[in-house]
Amino acid sequence: MPEDEGIEIAFAGRSNAGKSSALNALTRQKRLAKTSSTPGRTQLINVFNVTDDVRLIDLPGYGYAKVPIAVRNKWQKALGEYLQARACLKGLVVLMDIRHPLKDLDQQMLGWAAESGLQILVALTKADKLSQSERSKTLRKVREACLYFGENVEVIAFSSTRGFGLPEMESVITRWCTE
Ligand code: GDP
Repeated sequence: MPEDEGIEIAFAGRSNAGKSSALNALTRQKRLAKTSSTPGRTQLINVFNVTDDVRLIDLPGYGYAKVPIAVRNKWQKALGEYLQARACLKGLVVLMDIRHPLKDLDQQMLGWAAESGLQILVALTKADKLSQSERSKTLRKVREACLYFGENVEVIAFSSTRGFGLPEMESVITRWCTE
């Protein structure tokens, strides 16, 4: 990891949640974050420098069943430590497939981030897969459930393919970087 200075915004999510696609959409550089249809293959932390001071941190996707339990536990522990110990980390974007939000590991991530006092943005990805009314219903439910994690949590519907939620994600991250 780079030195613990400047500003970091981290991106986390279950494997296949759409994290690479979201990072691609956000950075508008199609080859910057690798998109893979085979989840869990890469267990690397990718770092994208936005400016000299600001970095986007692409954390490894979690919850991929084919990864041995010992490896998964090790990664979970490393993720928890990163979220809790990293001074330059301002906020965490947690990506969840809108059709399967708030799985156990997602809640664990939210719990760690909330305990560390991080700003949190929950992006419900692949929102294009639901109708407008299903989308609103899920958004309402997840917002309600996230109240448990405190006041620093915002929830948006997001679609990399259709661009939903992209301006909101950009403005939340910009706000975190300038607060
Ligand atoms: P990651 O494992 O979290 O990095 O997920 P990827 O970004 O590689 O996406 C996993 C799969 O979901 C790929 O097949 C993507 O094409 C698909 N996907 C990602 N974002 C969207 C989206 O907004 N809408 C739809 N329909 N599919 C998406």
